[in-house]
Amino acid sequence: MRRIVHLKINDEAWVEVCNIGSGAFYPLKGFMDSADYRSVVDSLRLVNGSPWTIPVTLDIPADRMNTFIKANKAILINNLEEKVAELFIKDIYKVNLKRDIKKIFGTDDKAHPGVAKEISRSPYRLGGDIDVLHYERRVFPEYSLSPAETKQRFSQKGWKTIVGFQTRNPIHRAHEYLQRTAMEIADGVLIQPLIGWKKDGDFSSLAVMRSYEIMIKQFYHEKRAMLCALKTPMRYAGPREAIFHAIIRRNFGCTHFIVGRDHAGVGKYYGEYDAHLLCDRFNNDLGIEILKLYGPYYCKKCGHVVSEKTCSHDKKYAITISGTGLRSLFLSGKRPSKEYMRKEIVDELMVLKKNKQLFCGGKHNEI
Ligand SMILES: [Zn+2]
Repeated sequence: MRRIVHLKINDEAWVEVCNIGSGAFYPLKGFMDSADYRSVVDSLRLVNGSPWTIPVTLDIPADRMNTFIKANKAILINNLEEKVAELFIKDIYKVNLKRDIKKIFGTDDKAHPGVAKEISRSPYRLGGDIDVLHYERRVFPEYSLSPAETKQRFSQKGWKTIVGFQTRNPIHRAHEYLQRTAMEIADGVLIQPLIGWKKDGDFSSLAVMRSYEIMIKQFYHEKRAMLCALKTPMRYAGPREAIFHAIIRRNFGCTHFIVGRDHAGVGKYYGEYDAHLLCDRFNNDLGIEILKLYGPYYCKKCGHVVSEKTCSHDKKYAITISGTGLRSLFLSGKRPSKEYMRKEIVDELMVLKKNKQLFCGGKHNEI
């Protein structure tokens, strides 16, 4: 006898439902069962051997376990009471949060935003393939494309080699340097800011998207740079998330992906180039080529943005450029210098700051 249960899911789980359905999380066809979860946490691969580094799981309230055990299908309902997907129940399991969090994030410090979020979840998980019934509204419609749509655009543009660029910050000179480097070696760059949940104090997705609109319209070659948002929450899992980000960009049709300094890192939890080391462990079976680039900075002697590979001057001449540094500057009310960020971008961000739209927190936590 078929038994169907209903499960209310939060907006974040709905976002992942949409990513599974759109193919952004290929080869996942649903939320992970215990075997895939275990394999990803312990071995950085799915049971079928495909590289995968971040668990994608659906939690269920502990007091409803029995209801799910007797069922074989769950209808997932969003906060607006809409049926968004059907999940064909394969597995119900409990995860060992304490042990696994340390493996996933490299720390179990509750001050780490990804750890804090994971600890707050129920340890009971529901695994199984899904059929999506209803996709969420696109926050930046013009820039919210599915993998099929980005691939179609690449084909229309005649791009054969495409570099994917992940970011959660407005564009500064160091990222500009990396993107221009990518444009020199490939047909085009897909700049794909992450617009899902970010911790309070990170730049709002609106700020990030606006900065890139200006950059592409006023400075880049429009035929070589394309802007497209990626809706998925930040995990701040550093090296593991770098691989996860690369796999997603492969699914969007990119042939190359940039992993720079402290990719998806937060605080001092990860070494600056730990993500590069993890990329090396995958023996080129990610299906996308990783461009391991070093974090550029401004050198006063060179009078230019450079990297450790291209400048030998003493670090006393260096102006470090980072998202963290930018956040501090704007918070303290200072304008970043022209070596740090273009004036046109700073002007726009100052307007957003005045309107309290520059940082995540409160109602701007998602966009
Ligand atoms: Zn120099």
